[in-house]
Amino acid sequence: MAAPPILRTIADLRHTVAGWRRNGESVGLVPTMGALHDGHLSLVKRAREHCARAVVSIFVNPPHFGPHEDFQRYPRDLEGDAAKLATVGADAVFAPQVAEMYPEGAVTTVSVARLTEGLCGPFRPGHFQGVATIVTKLLLHCLPDAGFFGEKDYQQLQVIRQLARDLDIPVRIEGVPTWRESDGLAMSSRNAYLAPAERALAPTLYRVLQQVATEMKAGETAAIATGWGKQALMRAGFARLDYLDAVDAVTLQKIEKLERPARIAAAAWLGKTRLIDNLPAG
Ligand code: AMP
Repeated sequence: MAAPPILRTIADLRHTVAGWRRNGESVGLVPTMGALHDGHLSLVKRAREHCARAVVSIFVNPPHFGPHEDFQRYPRDLEGDAAKLATVGADAVFAPQVAEMYPEGAVTTVSVARLTEGLCGPFRPGHFQGVATIVTKLLLHCLPDAGFFGEKDYQQLQVIRQLARDLDIPVRIEGVPTWRESDGLAMSSRNAYLAPAERALAPTLYRVLQQVATEMKAGETAAIATGWGKQALMRAGFARLDYLDAVDAVTLQKIEKLERPARIAAAAWLGKTRLIDNLPAG
């Protein structure tokens, strides 16, 4: 398949989508920061299954990143990404410059309360406001029938569901299960930062989350199961643990026992790389 056209401006995106709309075609949007891997491609495939057309946005969003985070060194490879997107039938890539997305003088942001209080929220101040603002703008630029987001970033998925509901954006938000390497490590553009010894250790995060979920399904309390999990990660060689929590799958509030659908979620550091992962329980 031919590489999809790369659209640089909001006007071009709107024009392209309007053409599809005139033909009565439905549209799916897959927002990404590029450095695409098979996890991203699984979102595009899902979008193509549900919608006649799929647009992938590629934009490394500065407000996503804290002052000491990896904005500068975040991997960028637009040509490689476009070639990968050709293999899954993406219809267009929206790859704007920062000035297109944030014209001089922009001061309006979107912030989602409550859902952002726990998990990654306290460790990445401003991050979810950056995510919520850019995703709102992308949804309004494209006005897709559906937006596709990975469960890999489960808190982000819930935040986006909430903002679409609260701001009356007429879009379906679809969550897509986490795509993993064969050893269980959740695929992430940041895995490229891992040194070989760190890469070898990384799948332990998934195994520990699975074990915590198994224990809670057997009736163990969250305090005991996650307490064991934290120790197991530190013993395995993780440098630092931001959190390992059992939370309600909808509200993201911490739970004590498994009574409703829940997620077991963690963020842990291997050297200078922060890994996140989560899985369903209950
Ligand atoms: P990113 O470019 O990493 O910000 O991710 C763009 C989208 O791809 C988000 O909706 C992510 O949740 C999703 N995503 C990233 N990694 C994976 C994965 N391993 N499996 C499924 N979706 C993913």
